[in-house]
Amino acid sequence: MKILVLNCGSSSLKYQLIDMEMERALAKGMVECIGIRGSRLVHEKEDAPKVVLEQDVPTYQEAVQMTIDALVDANHGAIKDIKEISAVGHRVVHGGENFAGAVVINQEVKKAIEECYVLAPLHNPANLVGINACEEILDVPQVAVFDTAFHQTMPEKAFMYALPYDIYNKHKLRRYGFHGTSHGYVAGRAAAVLGKDIKSLKLISCHLGNGASICAIENGQSIDTSMGLTPLEGLIMGTRVGDVDPAAITFIMKKEGLTAEQIEDMMNKSSGVFGISGLSSDFRHLIDASTEGDAKAKLAIDMYCYRIAKYIGAYAAALKGVDAIIFTAGVGENASIIRKEVCMYLGFLGVEIDDDKNSQRGVEVIISTTSAKTPVVVIPTNEELAIARETFALTRTCSH
Ligand code: ADP
Repeated sequence: MKILVLNCGSSSLKYQLIDMEMERALAKGMVECIGIRGSRLVHEKEDAPKVVLEQDVPTYQEAVQMTIDALVDANHGAIKDIKEISAVGHRVVHGGENFAGAVVINQEVKKAIEECYVLAPLHNPANLVGINACEEILDVPQVAVFDTAFHQTMPEKAFMYALPYDIYNKHKLRRYGFHGTSHGYVAGRAAAVLGKDIKSLKLISCHLGNGASICAIENGQSIDTSMGLTPLEGLIMGTRVGDVDPAAITFIMKKEGLTAEQIEDMMNKSSGVFGISGLSSDFRHLIDASTEGDAKAKLAIDMYCYRIAKYIGAYAAALKGVDAIIFTAGVGENASIIRKEVCMYLGFLGVEIDDDKNSQRGVEVIISTTSAKTPVVVIPTNEELAIARETFALTRTCSH
């Protein structure tokens, strides 16, 4: 069975075609700049060079069609016939309180995704447009896998803000959390790497990519996470501010004469390690600059690691203990210096890093010393595979 996994963003569509028998990506790629100038498809078949097709792509329907054409192309395609695709799994950012797991998409599900537009105004509309475009072209079951679903197990004491309760009743304003597919996937892999049953583990998972979040996981379930109503809360990120005194927002608005949109823009796009360093949101640049003596790049890295360590301490308390700490995503999988700096704070939890093991990148590896009380594990995330697995589980009994 082959499953197409789609991640539709505000102007791009990322895809992977996954063979479930081997759990292997047969092809992957991206259509960029949909509806704007410079649109193109970058396609990569397993074990073959990248193909770039520059062409106007005005709508998502055309982007989906272009993806299918690339997948069945005689030269660089991965399948012979569109009929080989059994189901489509969509990454959907916000499921609100409606979805605690993946679901087969029907009219009701589409309506619920639409109801969450107000909670994810940039992402959910793009996700639904992608779903509709797929429906037009492919006559197979489609599944929605929500970034928020994994965190629906958070207890009320973790997901409520201490605002007047009526605000929650009226607007469903609460903490939802994101990166759920990734946290769930790496927790499962970490348990396997440690040779333990996930149901017996207290895990702290650090997803450190452009966006970053931490999750406290008990018995395989999320009990707390650092992102909130939106992905802005929590850790310091590439360009997002993370936790900040709420009064600082109104202060800046008044002092700098900013509108709500302008301050949101500042907190999302020009803050984080980019805002502090004034240099870059990419940790490769920041680490190089810091090594060369750039004080602001060093400060940005120090703030970033300090915030992560503080959250790990907080989640060790929330879990009443911790059996293992996981690093994942671009920074977590690759930046040994960042992992080391975070773990320097955590000796009190029984964390001790083995520098040789920590020098590895992008592989599943235990990087703590054999004598450390609390293991630290690097697990490359694979959200596409996790989405494909959920899609497979929900559609394998369908007639296709
Ligand atoms: P996204 O949130 O877009 O999925 P990724 O998980 O791909 O992000 O992470 C992207 C980030 O990973 C980049 O901003 C970069 O800072 C970081 N990164 C990637 N490779 C390395 C590396 N070798 N060393 C340090 N940081 C890296």
